[in-house]
Amino acid sequence: MRKTELTTLTMEELEEYCINIGEKKFRAKQIFEWIHRGAKSIDEMTNLSINLRTKLKENAKITNMVIERKITSKEDGTRKYLLLLEDDNVIEGVVMKYKHGLTACISSQIGCAMGCTFCASTVNGLVRNLTAGEMVKQILLMQEDVGERISNIVVMGIGEPLHNFKNLISFLKIVNDENGLNIGNRHITISTCGLVPEIKKLADLKIPINLAISLHAANDDIRKTLIPIANKYSIEELLASCRYYLEMTNRRITFEYALIDGVNDGEKDARELRRLLKKMLCHVNLIPINKIEERDYRKSDSKRIKKFKEILEEFGVQVTIRREMGADIDAACGQLRNKVLKSQNSNML
Ligand code: SAH
Repeated sequence: MRKTELTTLTMEELEEYCINIGEKKFRAKQIFEWIHRGAKSIDEMTNLSINLRTKLKENAKITNMVIERKITSKEDGTRKYLLLLEDDNVIEGVVMKYKHGLTACISSQIGCAMGCTFCASTVNGLVRNLTAGEMVKQILLMQEDVGERISNIVVMGIGEPLHNFKNLISFLKIVNDENGLNIGNRHITISTCGLVPEIKKLADLKIPINLAISLHAANDDIRKTLIPIANKYSIEELLASCRYYLEMTNRRITFEYALIDGVNDGEKDARELRRLLKKMLCHVNLIPINKIEERDYRKSDSKRIKKFKEILEEFGVQVTIRREMGADIDAACGQLRNKVLKSQNSNML
């Protein structure tokens, strides 16, 4: 029999589980607290009877994951983690320090199926979805390592979170629970390349988390060359789903726009983007693209980025240029994992 992964259960599911194994419902709260305070084994749960612990050990387990490698940026203290899963897959997580506290960036899948042409995470395709427990565990491990509370989460690591919808929703419930990490929805951001039906599904759940859309182009022709899913959903359909999200959750949307030299960073592009977003409650985050080994795209120079920003601002579109955190440690998602996969392959030869 496969053991139940306790870290993956929401409080409600854990209560149901306790009842199913013939225990009182309130045990769920105790177990939940232990897990989300970072307990690594059921033996640590000393306020449970030995009998119950034995029963738990027989048919349940805590998600197992270890820090395989850590790299700390000399520039800004950003820490990048390579995390090893029980089935020997590796994923990445990052912790960044901002004025308002620590932000964890986590992965939602092992690899990615989306195929965005500038992104390192998708180079080797999708291996599998992460469980909700594996998403939570990344935060627990990094929090323990830093020794300070993580107060914000961005789901912007490896993978497309809306392609792993069910587990993502469990994850959101678990980290939001007051008996666990207790991270407010407003402190959570998920980023998507634009899966329109899932954006609408998420909107219908009315969880007031922040939504970031990887737009990266102001028209469909350019977007299709960067993001394959743009062949399925037009920018118009995408923006309509964003307006719906806004209506249902009242949360302002962030549009991410990675500036690539000569591809999407011209004055014409900026004006087109301004026209698209002018009437929307939103925010644009300009990201100087990170060069990845597997692709030939280059970063726009700072003058071009500044001009792009000015054009958007002329008509009141809110813009920031993303600070490049941890640039010296390949902090952009997927790069470290690819290096490891490559070295594993060359070891095998
Ligand atoms: N799949 C999700 C989340 C993961 S990527 C999404 O597409 O949004 C997180 C962000 O990093 C996305 O905006 C993505 O487009 C961006 N990104 C990926 N590769 C990048 C690179 N080489 N340089 C800059 N941003 C990149």
